[in-house]
Amino acid sequence: MLETARLDPHPHSHALADARGRVLHDLRISVTDKCNFRCTYCMPEDRYPHDHEFLSRHDLLTFEEIARFTRLAIGMGVSKVRITGGEPLLRKNLPVLIEMLANLPGLGDLALTTNGILLPRFAKSLRDAGLRRVTISLDTLDPAVFASMSGQSTGPDAVLAAIDHAAALGFAPIKINAVVQRGVNEDHVVDLAARFRGTGHIVRFIEYMDVGTCNGWTPDQVVPSRETLARIHARFPVEPLDKNYHGEVAERYRYTDGAGEIGFISSVSEPFCGACTRARLSADGKVFLCLFAADGVDVRTALRNGATDAELAALLEETWRKRDDRYSELRATAARTPAGRVEMYHIGG
Ligand code: SAM
Ligand code: SF4
Ligand code: SF4
Repeated sequence: MLETARLDPHPHSHALADARGRVLHDLRISVTDKCNFRCTYCMPEDRYPHDHEFLSRHDLLTFEEIARFTRLAIGMGVSKVRITGGEPLLRKNLPVLIEMLANLPGLGDLALTTNGILLPRFAKSLRDAGLRRVTISLDTLDPAVFASMSGQSTGPDAVLAAIDHAAALGFAPIKINAVVQRGVNEDHVVDLAARFRGTGHIVRFIEYMDVGTCNGWTPDQVVPSRETLARIHARFPVEPLDKNYHGEVAERYRYTDGAGEIGFISSVSEPFCGACTRARLSADGKVFLCLFAADGVDVRTALRNGATDAELAALLEETWRKRDDRYSELRATAARTPAGRVEMYHIGG
């Protein structure tokens, strides 16, 4: 049975610190690089036409490989796992993996991030498999802007229906991720806040990031969170809340009238590298130490070449101990990571 995110079953004796003293705590697992959307900020259609060649089945880690790696990562201090993609619900038989992970002793929190379109089809079996938390991405309630941001003819109504469906099944709290882009959906943030006030769902407004190399990011497309916060506060007054745990990326606020909570993820305007406790496992079995890394450390070869648990654990330990990444803190300086960065859909945010 899973505990809530606030309970960390790992005593600090397991703490594995990187070169900057950051203790491994979260693991984000991408289960596919495919997606049924073509969001302009992640997988733009002109760069990824629908016949684009994604990873082959053989490239993908099997569920057994993912579960084994996760079990070892839990042994090294990981207590939160998030399944992501591409679009994770495109991975065949995903509930089977969820059940395997949900049964791993010591896992405090297991969540999934999805664009929601396939969620009504799979939500019940995911829930039965042990999933308790979902984050659903929704950038705007405006059908035309939704279509242009997601490269999809489906409108926001399908995502809203998925959110209602998940809520009816008992997923809670549901988080709604909204990427805010200057001149695109910055005026829509109050509508999003209004739509989810009082529902128990938590909207998190995310600054548009320069992940990958294909979205054409420029700094002027970023809407600093303080601006989004000011827009919302002017309509629905909010006040700050403490973080739930060290390393939580969102700054939390609550409506002063008691209508719930919202969050802001401000990795451009207020980098949080100093508290970044997250490793990422790509669908093809590479461990990435930063969202902006050029490459990851291959663990698939070791998994497939008969490495023992001790050897795999040593590989993960050595990888994390050397970690020195802090791209967002260096973004504005010449010392930042050079060109050649992993794409967002490859490691899942
Ligand atoms: N396909 C799923 C989805 O969209 O929810 C999961 C994978 S997606 C890469 C994970 C999250 O990353 C989504 O909430 C998405 O909005 C966010 N994201 C993607 N590209 C981004 C960017 N350039 N800046 C900020 N957030 C981004
Ligand atoms: Fe797909 Fe998610 Fe990327 Fe959009 S953000 S293209 S839904 S992986
Ligand atoms: Fe973590 Fe890298 Fe993001 Fe900094 S830039 S918060 S190190 S993922």
